Amino acid sequence: MAGEPQADCLFCKIAAGEVPATVVRETGTTIAFRDINPQAPTHILVIPKAHYENAAELATQPQLLADVLREAGEVAAEDKVDTTGYRIVFNTGRGAGQTVFHAHAHVMGGRGLQWPPG
Ligand code: C5P
Repeated sequence: MAGEPQADCLFCKIAAGEVPATVVRETGTTIAFRDINPQAPTHILVIPKAHYENAAELATQPQLLADVLREAGEVAAEDKVDTTGYRIVFNTGRGAGQTVFHAHAHVMGGRGLQWPPG
């Protein structure tokens, strides 16, 4: 059920500290960690600790969505990509490249980013 921990969810396990990750920030409701396969010098994932499948489901909890977006801005500032520019991406659905079905914001920066993305 939305909001409840899922036994087979990798990011629920990271949120619970059961799977290691390079955590850069944590709040009561969110955790941010470096992507294990970075696509840019800064590539950090910000997740809600509670399980929501994707951004649309997360948006049913507006405060939690705001928490994730605020933390995306904070990690960008801490990595000093806020001045040069960065991207916040929620891949949604397999066709868009979503592989982990626990909502996560990719925060990417530190290099030139092309538009439109591939
Ligand atoms: O948007 P998508 O679902 O594809 O993003 C999942 C991301 O999670 C990937 O960028 C992948 O490298 C990352 N990942 C991670 N740590 C893991 C497993 C996946 O950072 N243990």
